[in-house]
Amino acid sequence: MLVKQLIRETLELQGFRIESVEKKDSELLVTIQADLRYHPRCGVCGTSGDYRDTLSECRFRHVPIWGIDVNLTYTPCRVSCSKCGGIHVELMPWAAGKKRLTKALAVTIATWARQLTWQQVARQFGC
Ligand SMILES: [Zn+2]
Repeated sequence: MLVKQLIRETLELQGFRIESVEKKDSELLVTIQADLRYHPRCGVCGTSGDYRDTLSECRFRHVPIWGIDVNLTYTPCRVSCSKCGGIHVELMPWAAGKKRLTKALAVTIATWARQLTWQQVARQFGC
């Protein structure tokens, strides 16, 4: 499916896979799941760790496709890290820190912000 390919191209998804893409109301809802061939990585140091438990589902806004909002849903897990010696939320390479948007959307907004005023950017992305 072309939409899956577009999303895969714009996100760093190694260790994850796209489970489904659904059209719900006026948005595309992309469900991401962990690829069980990979160990989860620590969100602090990036080292592979052991699975501990699962958190509640999170939604991340992604770059709209042809004006259609795209949201990712993913249920992150916590990792016991042997390097840091703690329990941390796994590394989600597409997420922009603790914000609920993807790095691709953050870069897109920053690029628009160079060209336009903040009010126009906020209006464009519904911020
Ligand atoms: Zn760590």
